[in-house]
Amino acid sequence: MKIPFQDLKQQYLFIKPEVDSVIEEVIENTSFIGGKFVKDFEKNFARTYGVKHCIGVANGTDALYITMKMLGIGQGDEVITTALSWISTSETITQAGAKPVFVDIEPELYTIDPEKVEEKINSKTKAIIPVHLYGQMCNMDRIMEIAAKYNLKVIEDCAQSHFSEFKGKRAGLYGDAATFSFYPGKNLGAYGDAGCIITEDDSLAMKMRMFANHGALKKHEHKMEGINSRLDSLQAGILDVKLRFILNWTDLRVANAKLYQKYLSDIAEVSTPSIRKDSMHSFHLYVIKLNEKRDELMKYLSEKGVSTVLHYPTILPLLEAYEYLGHTAQDFPVAFDLQQKMCSIPMFPELREEQIRYVAECIKSFYLNQKK
Ligand SMILES: *Cc1c(COP(=O)(O)O)cnc(C)c1O
Repeated sequence: MKIPFQDLKQQYLFIKPEVDSVIEEVIENTSFIGGKFVKDFEKNFARTYGVKHCIGVANGTDALYITMKMLGIGQGDEVITTALSWISTSETITQAGAKPVFVDIEPELYTIDPEKVEEKINSKTKAIIPVHLYGQMCNMDRIMEIAAKYNLKVIEDCAQSHFSEFKGKRAGLYGDAATFSFYPGKNLGAYGDAGCIITEDDSLAMKMRMFANHGALKKHEHKMEGINSRLDSLQAGILDVKLRFILNWTDLRVANAKLYQKYLSDIAEVSTPSIRKDSMHSFHLYVIKLNEKRDELMKYLSEKGVSTVLHYPTILPLLEAYEYLGHTAQDFPVAFDLQQKMCSIPMFPELREEQIRYVAECIKSFYLNQKK
């Protein structure tokens, strides 16, 4: 059996008539930048999500950068974020002119540890960027409490957590603003780069929209300098089609995670993901923790036709890019331990039970062979 890490082709075939027709429509309309398709998607995403403003941008990285710039974060400021994420989260802090300050993760839940945030706060701290990693929401009660106490902005990085929930409230509805990526492999993925920002704040929304479009809401009326980071119409049209299926696809991910849990639970060497109490984990990724022989297992699975990936092979503070900060593994013991033991196994809505069972059986047989 061959099991891909994700299967975007299968998903496309399922929605092919709708996608093909919207692509044709955009081209017929020659409204390639802005216009009806972008407006419709922004409106529909905001409505489906339950938020006032949605601003389409070029990608999830720009979404973070634009948000920080328009919240006034810059030179001399510090922004606190997690040690375990994709580099966009921290590189945009630097792009904005501020300094990234990393915090270790919670054991078993893998998101930023709120109990370790407070000790990193000083007079330069301006914001916290919680990342709802793998689809798991951060402890937003504690993070919002800390942010209120120290008057910090909160930008939720929702690139991996479309429609996740904590205490009945969706990821992105807690902070001052939240950013999404629609990179093809994300839970809601375009057919190219795309992203958006959501917020309830009218004035912030207006500023972010302006900044993303050369500082102008109307052509040639540049109220400030900005950047070119727009959601293009082809992507917006495709995303609008996929938006109709996202809640169903999320349910399928959750169901697949339950099946993995069932088939993997009796393997002593494997820890399956824990789900935060009172929350809905949207399982962008299914990351297991292997207490021994992780690399050997990955090689074995590859021989058996099962694709696996590391998210991420090196935690952010230990990347060469952050050598100048002088961090060591001992500064982030929980994240570093996970770095050595994690492994993402195939997860996508269309995954079938027999495939999940096969993956689990391969893992089981690998560890049985080790004991012989
Ligand atoms: C994917 C991702 C981003 C960046 O999104 P792009 O659209 O690829 O720029 C940011 N943060 C996290 C946590 C991500 O996983």
